[in-house]
Amino acid sequence: MNKTYDFAVIGAGIIGMSSAYYLSDSGAKIAVIDKSYIGSGSTGRCISGIRQQFSTPTSIGVMKESMSLFSRMEDEFGFSIDFAQSGYLLLAHSEELLNTFRSNIEIQKKEGVNVSLLSPEEASSIVPALNTQGLLGAAYCPDDGQAYPFATLKGYQTKIDEKKGDFFLFNPVVDFQKNTNFVVTLRDGTIIEANKVLLSAGPWSRELGQKIGLDLPFYPERHEAIITERLPKFIGPMLVDYRKDGCYFQQLLTGQVIGCYTPDPNVPGIRQDNTLRFLTEMAKRMVRLVPELEKAAVLRHWAGSYTMTPDGNPIVDQTPIQNLYIASGMCGHGFMFGPGICKHLAYYMIHDHWDTDFSEFSLNRTFQSKESLK
Ligand SMILES: Cc1cc2nc3c(=O)[nH]c(=O)nc-3n(C[C@H](O)[C@H](O)[C@H](O)COP(=O)(O)OP(=O)(O)OC[C@H]3O[C@@H](n4cnc5c(N)ncnc54)[C@H](O)[C@@H]3O)c2cc1C
Repeated sequence: MNKTYDFAVIGAGIIGMSSAYYLSDSGAKIAVIDKSYIGSGSTGRCISGIRQQFSTPTSIGVMKESMSLFSRMEDEFGFSIDFAQSGYLLLAHSEELLNTFRSNIEIQKKEGVNVSLLSPEEASSIVPALNTQGLLGAAYCPDDGQAYPFATLKGYQTKIDEKKGDFFLFNPVVDFQKNTNFVVTLRDGTIIEANKVLLSAGPWSRELGQKIGLDLPFYPERHEAIITERLPKFIGPMLVDYRKDGCYFQQLLTGQVIGCYTPDPNVPGIRQDNTLRFLTEMAKRMVRLVPELEKAAVLRHWAGSYTMTPDGNPIVDQTPIQNLYIASGMCGHGFMFGPGICKHLAYYMIHDHWDTDFSEFSLNRTFQSKESLK
């Protein structure tokens, strides 16, 4: 059975869903394809953080826009996405990192972000439960925060449905060719023809690109995460401890503490197995930072992927194959980047020119610079 669309979006994570949402706003015919359920990839496995504290004007600008889009979703969707501006507190235990914070704050302030450098005492007044031993200072933005990924995706799904977009779920792309139009074959034999295609398959983007002859520089890595039982509210912002044996976690609006750490060495590959080593190590690191957490029971833990690129920035661009677009390599920031990036990407896909400068995210950049706030 052949079906014809203006746009086909491969991957129903935050990137595919927010792109499809903005594309469907133009009145175009949209197909959204996923090999499993909506949010089954990295998006449903993330820890819900949204921050504007980045190191380049492009990323900061995207995040200011995303923050504003997240803040309006409840009105737009008609239900809560558990959005809260609960803040991000980035912790420096070395002079070098404190200096990085200082220079980033200068850039962030120029871009209009409400951020300041705090002494350990000031940090402690924001999170009294914080262990400040060895802390030299902190960067704090009270406007950063959190939102619930599955509610956000549900909102997009409802709106795409209203615009008569079609979903093909639990139905992987098995073949992908370009004739005059793109011809995308799904496992159940459905054939989707589309003028333009967005490859937004997160960690699977490289493997899908290979089906059509592209070698895209994405390197998935496993990241595990943990969530506790609900606790009385006592931690405000997301705490980010950048030490080699640090971690990052926040308390959700619903009371659970959710977090992860970046393994050293990294664990390459698309892997969703979880380990006892992470569970015990993460518990130790969390308790070191907030000793009161010693009493908290862990509800569950899981794993998902960060899709890395050589410079720690996403790739959001047209590919060398005309009318084939790529948005992936979100490097651990895709949930927060999604709305801001995809609004501009959809504009580009519809109008064939950008309404913003995304050269920092281009596919043919040199990949020399590095995002300093991982
Ligand atoms: C533990 C952890 C914590 C994180 N915390 C945060 C955070 O606090 N804040 C933040 O902003 N980001 C966070 N991230 C990163 C964030 O989750 C990702 O950057 C983001 O979800 C990427 O979205 P995506 O749409 O690109 O990919 P995905 O959500 O992975 O979506 C890709 C989709 O493509 C589909 N797909 C793959 N192959 C095929 C195929 N052949 N056919 C059809 N469909 C296919 C998959 O099923 C999947 O649903 C975290 C990630 C992890 C793992």
